[in-house]
Amino acid sequence: MTTRKKITILIPAYNEQEVLRHLYERLHKLAGETPNYAFEFLFVNDGSRDKTLEIIKAYAKKDHRIAYINLSRNFGKETAMIAGLDKANGDATVIIDADLQDPPELIPQMIKYWEEGYDDVFAKRNSRNGESFMKKTTSSVFYKILQKSTTIPIQQDTGDFRLLDKRCVMALRQFRESERYTKGMFSWIGYKKKEIGYDRDPRFAGDTKWNYLKLINLAIDGITSFTTAPLRVSSVMGILVSLGAFIYIIYLVVRTIFFGTDLAGYPSMMAVILFLGGVQLLSLGVIGEYIGRIFNETKNRPLYFIEDYRASSDEK
Ligand code: UDP
Ligand code: MG
Repeated sequence: MTTRKKITILIPAYNEQEVLRHLYERLHKLAGETPNYAFEFLFVNDGSRDKTLEIIKAYAKKDHRIAYINLSRNFGKETAMIAGLDKANGDATVIIDADLQDPPELIPQMIKYWEEGYDDVFAKRNSRNGESFMKKTTSSVFYKILQKSTTIPIQQDTGDFRLLDKRCVMALRQFRESERYTKGMFSWIGYKKKEIGYDRDPRFAGDTKWNYLKLINLAIDGITSFTTAPLRVSSVMGILVSLGAFIYIIYLVVRTIFFGTDLAGYPSMMAVILFLGGVQLLSLGVIGEYIGRIFNETKNRPLYFIEDYRASSDEK
């Protein structure tokens, strides 16, 4: 028998006990329907506090295709993904959410494009069922801002659900920054990309792990890790405001020379002071964001720790 190409399915999982059974069934079915490829199901247990790890371990006992990484605590999805990519040894790797919002049935189509020579086949959401209007609009505004501020093309409405060729995985492994914005990295590495559309399902069970605070943080991380445009904005704002002030001073001097002085102008003075104070605080905040990132990166800490790891095996 010729050796089959191996596809690693990488699943970050945090408190996903309700969905794992359904996920496993669908993945199992998928592997059965795609017999030309060997599969590895690589679960990354991101410090779950429920029975997620036990369930994965139980499946791993019965199914040699299952590998798992048990992280030492909850590190967040971005870190869970790099932990998985570090161990993924398939010829291609598919990153998929545990909650079945990304239909595994799309994977054969991804493989097809991969075989045609694409390195990064990503799923683009046509619709986002079960997500609030607020989440949809905020996410769309965020993508627009991000795209405007950088020259690297950003893929809108794509999640992390994608198939990556081995060489993309090798590339991503070299990104060891601690504040990770993986979606930006996918764009950054380049390679041949292919988009396929799909309808995003609502979460199958359990709750989303995101709240608005986390999303705002991710947005700030996304922008600051990807572009220095906000620094530019504060410089431009500084230039504009000083220029305005300069013109205003000249106007005042000329006016005093020709028309004498009156002691009015307290409100305009207040307005200028408050405005300048605001601009300064904003700029300081922006600079602070970047300094904070520099601080975190210079610590150069390891990204994660593994409590235990089990590899998949090829034999039946
Ligand atoms: N996840 C994770 N660590 C976390 C939070 C989430 O590994 O700290 C996983 C989670 O188990 C799921 C995926 O990341 O497989 C996406 O999470 P979620 O469905 O909560 O995000 P959403 O779909 O709402 O963006
Ligand atoms: Mg989800």
